[in-house]
Amino acid sequence: MSGAARQLTIVGAGLAGALLGILLRRRGWEVDLYEKRGDPRRLGYAGGRSINLALAERGRHALRAADADDAVMRHAIMMRGRMVHTGAAAPQLQRYGRDDDEVIWSVHRGDLNVVLLDLAQAAGARLHFDAGLDAVNFDSRHAVFRNPGSGATREVHFHALVGADGAGSALRAAMQRVRDLGERVDVLDHGYKELEIPPSADGGFRIEPHALHIWPRGHYMCIALPNDERTFTVTLFLPHRAGTDGGPAFDQIHDVEAAQAFFAREFPDALALMPEFRAHWAANPVGQLATLYLDRWHLDGRAVLLGDAAHAMVPFHGQGMNCAFEDCVVLADQLDAHADTADAFAAFEAQRRPDAAAIQRMALDNYLEMRDRVDDADYLLQRELELALQARHPGRFVPHYAMVTFMRIPYSLAMRRTDLQRGILERATAGHTTLDTLDWPAIDAEVRAQLTPLEDTPA
Ligand SMILES: Cc1cc2nc3c(=O)[nH]c(=O)nc-3n(C[C@H](O)[C@H](O)[C@H](O)COP(=O)(O)OP(=O)(O)OC[C@H]3O[C@@H](n4cnc5c(N)ncnc54)[C@H](O)[C@@H]3O)c2cc1C
Repeated sequence: MSGAARQLTIVGAGLAGALLGILLRRRGWEVDLYEKRGDPRRLGYAGGRSINLALAERGRHALRAADADDAVMRHAIMMRGRMVHTGAAAPQLQRYGRDDDEVIWSVHRGDLNVVLLDLAQAAGARLHFDAGLDAVNFDSRHAVFRNPGSGATREVHFHALVGADGAGSALRAAMQRVRDLGERVDVLDHGYKELEIPPSADGGFRIEPHALHIWPRGHYMCIALPNDERTFTVTLFLPHRAGTDGGPAFDQIHDVEAAQAFFAREFPDALALMPEFRAHWAANPVGQLATLYLDRWHLDGRAVLLGDAAHAMVPFHGQGMNCAFEDCVVLADQLDAHADTADAFAAFEAQRRPDAAAIQRMALDNYLEMRDRVDDADYLLQRELELALQARHPGRFVPHYAMVTFMRIPYSLAMRRTDLQRGILERATAGHTTLDTLDWPAIDAEVRAQLTPLEDTPA
């Protein structure tokens, strides 16, 4: 590609946009990043949703490619597994992996964004804040950005646009006007509300910091992730509207009194950890969750979408950001591999669309697992068998969570193997309450017949 054409205009300097800016600058591209919000390094982070995020291997690999991993990990807290609060017994840690090499990390969205913006700027990307994409003329390759505060606009010429502007992408809407992207949005009938557990009186964590806490309650649940200032962000996931089963729903909780009564009944131990419960309940809105499906992600060589703008998903696998970061590495690689931007965008879409669809489905499946199955005897037996089969067939039977979280094999491959493995686990444990009574020779034979050895994606 000619030197003049190695220029990209990225819309959105959130998580994916900022990371892509670093990756492309390091490969010699000219990069302009336009962000609707003000500079979070001057104004403080005003993200407005999901205060902390679980970072896993796919995301860390992308951060390493941008030399950003060390700076991010200074703010990260290790989570070894799920700490399940059932109410009846003492909370139990269910490890995610075999040891502390197989863990996930809680990071603050604002810290992460600030680290990535600093590195993008240091790498030579030009950052433009208070500049929300407003309109695009794809024929003349001009984009209009508007300052949301003053209303002032500026028009810029672009070679190609990258939409990293999140689930409500303005670039996607502009592309949709000139090409049918085949957009479908499945809004989840459950929403979320964020609350907070502050530090204890002595300044420490009030509950085990190195875990993702879950209070599973069947149709709904609370989770809590640690923050490095010794707080926890608590998220309640609950149906928006009451169903025929008469279970709780946001539309039944009319005020703070009702919210407090609901927590006192369903999550009394969690409520006891939140002295500011009433204030946080009143201040924080109920968030929507949705899965966004598109048949097309690019407009020839003029525009492409990635991250949430292309494939927003429900957050129950903790992979939306990890997937968005993986997108950035793949797009940067494809841009280097193709002389023509249109070919690079097409190759990116062909590679990533099946994987995005797979993690979108696995994320929906995981909601049921988290809210309803983690304290269920059948599930726990299957999980025990999963670990036993991992030890008996190393590299061949790899637990679902490990394939998604600790490896970088394509999500679509992880999903296919998960489906096969789930069948093996369900058949093997049906009618049993302990591993001692299982037909091990038959199970081993099934594993060998159905699963080939698995290799991780090399660095
Ligand atoms: C409750 C919840 C919990 C989650 N937990 C996890 C988790 O644990 N792990 C995980 O991996 N993922 C998680 N996710 C998903 C994760 O938040 C997203 O996948 C990730 O933020 C996507 O990054 P992005 O850069 O594509 O979009 P965003 O992070 O949304 O960034 C988009 C950026 O574009 C800017 N923008 C918007 N419109 C315009 C415009 N018109 N012009 C210019 N700029 C614009 C925005 O201001 C923003 O800075 C969670 C999501 C939710 C809702």
